[in-house]
Amino acid sequence: MLEIKNLHARVNPEEGADLAILKGVDLTVPAGEVHAVMGPNGCGKSTLSYVLAGHEGYETTDGAIRFEGEDIGELEPEERAARGLFLSFQYPVEIPGVPTLTFLKEAANAQRRARGEAEISAPDFMKLARENAAKLGISNDMLKRPVNVGFSGGEKKRMEIFQALMLAPRFLILDETDSGLDIDALKVVAEGVNALRNPERGMLVITHYQRLLDHLKPDVVHVMAGGRIVESGGPELAHKLEAEGYDKYAGEAA
Ligand code: ADP
Ligand code: MG
Ligand code: MG
Repeated sequence: MLEIKNLHARVNPEEGADLAILKGVDLTVPAGEVHAVMGPNGCGKSTLSYVLAGHEGYETTDGAIRFEGEDIGELEPEERAARGLFLSFQYPVEIPGVPTLTFLKEAANAQRRARGEAEISAPDFMKLARENAAKLGISNDMLKRPVNVGFSGGEKKRMEIFQALMLAPRFLILDETDSGLDIDALKVVAEGVNALRNPERGMLVITHYQRLLDHLKPDVVHVMAGGRIVESGGPELAHKLEAEGYDKYAGEAA
């Protein structure tokens, strides 16, 4: 479903740096599977998710990203979203003055228009919102508040999963940054991802947290070091990393 071949990327020179970060990433995620990416700080995990999203701060210098057989490497972020790629950090920003549901309905309809589909009606959207909010224990009050404004870490995570449920993406990429998630937030993410699992959907979960993977039970765990995937295995690989650390991959980073 998602096929990344020999992907090289650098910080866009216009950003004031000329720095190669991804140095030949090979990664394939079939439909129906959840893959985790772990790796030491600074190895390029977040950069990989930005490049998959089409973030303008990064430039692809070699390799390809194919999504359902189509080369999406040159597409705008909105075009990727319209094809069903969901990047968790696309919407974590606070948007004062814009109620969460208004924002999400606009995002959902923008994607539908881009696909040439009819827009979702307000009553249908509200019905879906109530169902999904109930699943995640999100109150009406939270939905009325402006996007992410004043949310706790756990609430932001809950909203992130809610956004994913509402947009029902074909493929989900979650970048769990190293900013401390409490146990409650980890559980929300894990339960949300498990609720979103289905045979047609693929997921890539980037994380530092072995504990998250205990709840998630990914099909495959990949280790990233020095801008490449250097090892892949089953869930047991995450436990090995927890016990042994990333030292053995230090040569890869050099
Ligand atoms: P990770 O998510 O694995 O911790 P990142 O992808 O955030 O790693 O960063 C990889 C490396 O690239 C780090 O050394 C980081 O400092 C550098 N980097 C990422 N983005 C930029 C940028 N916009 N400008 C300069 N350096 C960057
Ligand atoms: Mg980091
Ligand atoms: Mg990161």
